[in-house]
Amino acid sequence: MIDVLIIGAGPAGLSAAIYVQRSGKKAVCLEALVVGGQIVNTPEIANYPGIKKTSGFEFSMGLYEQATELGAEIEYEKAVSIEKKEDFHVMTESGKEFIAKSVILATGAKNRHLGIDKEEALAGRGISYCATCDGAFYKGKDVAVNGGGNTALEDALFLSNYCSKVYIIHRRDEFRGEPDSLEAVKSKDNVELVLNSTIEEIKGDKALEGVVVKDKNTGALREIAVAGLFIAIGQVPDNKDFEDVAELDAAGYISASEECKTKTPGVFVAGDCRTKSVRQLTTAASDGAVAALAACAYISTL
Ligand code: NAP
Repeated sequence: MIDVLIIGAGPAGLSAAIYVQRSGKKAVCLEALVVGGQIVNTPEIANYPGIKKTSGFEFSMGLYEQATELGAEIEYEKAVSIEKKEDFHVMTESGKEFIAKSVILATGAKNRHLGIDKEEALAGRGISYCATCDGAFYKGKDVAVNGGGNTALEDALFLSNYCSKVYIIHRRDEFRGEPDSLEAVKSKDNVELVLNSTIEEIKGDKALEGVVVKDKNTGALREIAVAGLFIAIGQVPDNKDFEDVAELDAAGYISASEECKTKTPGVFVAGDCRTKSVRQLTTAASDGAVAALAACAYISTL
């Protein structure tokens, strides 16, 4: 019998696993993709208290080792449903069933897509959602990054080191990303900011050839020839499978208080998949701890 089944092995899920194991209970994490979640792709983390500088990969491996050395188990399975019987029965896409006394949803979020013609068809053929994974294919070429958050700025900085030219296409003239990152990007000779602009069209049939952007103020269209387009326009939640046990807000995030409790006693939520205003590594780790201790307290009442 599993004490706490954690759905997702990103920073929130692995932090929860550490706290569950340290409370003397058994934690199992189900992970559909890679341990560490989206932070794995971040080249540099410099805002996690107590760690001056690390990479997303190194940070994730540290979490993974800490959790598994404490006895947590990771199963590479995608959870698709949760049913409350005497305990919680969680089914996975491959048909496995996991039974646990309590569940923590730590599903994170997935990359938002632009939703325009050819985006899906040219994914992997010029269109990417991960500069650190795919950037090296574009050495010496012109590329564009779409977005104005920390991911877009970090991607642009990373790509500017070996691409000929990097365009940052952003729909506003102000950035959500940190001022330091923006300054670093602006100091690069091969980065051009294309502001107040949206991508209207993707060019190319077998591979990406360019994008057509529209200036929101003037309506003018401009075609930019690029071999790579890195879309970094934020994340969207993926919690539909769990709405029987956990209420979702209008945007699809799981509604829960700071105590990480859902509408179902015994089901908790942690990290970016929860309704919240600040989605950071620190808040994900913090949620993991809160949800884990709440789950252990719940189990002690059974
Ligand atoms: P984000 O902060 O949500 O930024 C998304 C950007 O995409 C925004 O600039 C937004 O524009 C734009 N956007 C959203 N939908 C769009 C659409 N349909 N078309 C065009 N543009 C669109 O996402 P993120 O950069 O992935 O970051 C997510 C979270 O992770 C943030 O909290 C961020 O601070 C954090 N993060 C931290 C680090 C780090 O600390 N090293 C690294 C990466 C990410 P508007 O600004 O106009 O809304």
